[in-house]
Amino acid sequence: MVAASACLLGYNCRYDGKSKKSPVVFKQIPAERILPICPEQLGGLTTPRDPSELVGGDGFDVLDGNARVVNIYGIDNTKTFIDGAYAALNQIKAHNIKFCFLKDKSPSCGVGTGGMTGVAAALLIRQGIKIEEIS
Ligand code: SF4
Repeated sequence: MVAASACLLGYNCRYDGKSKKSPVVFKQIPAERILPICPEQLGGLTTPRDPSELVGGDGFDVLDGNARVVNIYGIDNTKTFIDGAYAALNQIKAHNIKFCFLKDKSPSCGVGTGGMTGVAAALLIRQGIKIEEIS
């Protein structure tokens, strides 16, 4: 079993209420063997929601208390993003999953290509989960 950013699987969980379904994931793994995770929803954010960005560093810095996640209106969502990252990790560990597809260019799921590594991605990387980033 593997995990994947839920928006890559067709769930309408992005900030704008849309998905980013990727045929790449389904080509590699049967749908019934993929655990959908959306760290931002798991942290308690609504969908749709105001987009957030990393401020002062990347997801590793956020986990270490040296950077923040702030939405476009200046609301600090740092704790929500960290809570969501740990909730995703807990689900992944509960299923003994070692590999995850993550959506790029996200303050949660991005792994650094074309942007900074997100909070959930940083936590999963630190926990030794193998990651393939999908655009
Ligand atoms: S990129 Fe991650 S946090 Fe953002 S909508 Fe997709 S699964 Fe949720």
